[in-house]
Amino acid sequence: MFKIGCHLSSSKGYLAMGKQAVEIGANTFQFFTRNPRGGDAKPLDEKDIANYLDFSKENGFHPILAHAPYTLNACSPKGNLRAFAKATMADDLRRLEYIPGSYYNFHPGSHVGQGVETGIKYIVEMLNEVIKPEQSTTVLLETMGGKGSEIGSSFEELRIIIEMVEHQDRLGVCLDTCHVFDAGYDIVNDLDGVLAEFDKIIGIDRLKAIHINDSKNPLGSRKDRHAKIGEGQIGMEAFVRIINHSLLRELPFYLETPNDVEGYGREIALLKEEYL
Ligand code: FE
Ligand code: FE
Ligand code: ZN
Repeated sequence: MFKIGCHLSSSKGYLAMGKQAVEIGANTFQFFTRNPRGGDAKPLDEKDIANYLDFSKENGFHPILAHAPYTLNACSPKGNLRAFAKATMADDLRRLEYIPGSYYNFHPGSHVGQGVETGIKYIVEMLNEVIKPEQSTTVLLETMGGKGSEIGSSFEELRIIIEMVEHQDRLGVCLDTCHVFDAGYDIVNDLDGVLAEFDKIIGIDRLKAIHINDSKNPLGSRKDRHAKIGEGQIGMEAFVRIINHSLLRELPFYLETPNDVEGYGREIALLKEEYL
């Protein structure tokens, strides 16, 4: 079963996102838990959530992926920003329990000159405070492109974080194809090799979701500029191999390409045609 969705605006609530997803042929979706630049989340709308849960069951939806605001930096040198990251993630996770069994994706963070070791220490500190053993949500570390002082652009860094987290069973990885490519992992010419390395260092069982994006920039560019599927440096042939790979094909794929909703619909149709 091809699990495919895209990033949708959460401004009209869960049911609206579910309906939009169905309209464009998706069976899951991603959304920001709040304004991507941070700030307060809207009050929980329990009626909307109940309606969405019914709708998602009727339509056979796969787990949805909540994305933390991208300004959230758990390893900022500034104590108030680390506190904000922790409070935001704790609040997001509390709210997500209303939609049991979801995924919550976040960018590990940028150490901004403090060094990788200090950065990782702060990230682990946050995770150990906010992840509760009884939660139904799986928290996903996103693989990053390595722009600036981003942590998480190597499988090794992600492994170190995971190893130090107490409730590891609530933790996984979301692989962003644009990001890993920009970080230097050659998923175009050596997908098997990259996945073997992921398995050796992190363990393939930790891989829970894929952000499926082409990249405007070449392998190893450490840039992070997404392109539409087939219109970047990764290219359509590589995506056909990615969605059909035996280690990936059962995972949920979420598009975050520069597109409007209709454009996502076209990409979903294109990928469905190539899914064997
Ligand atoms: Fe992301
Ligand atoms: Fe991503
Ligand atoms: Zn990105």
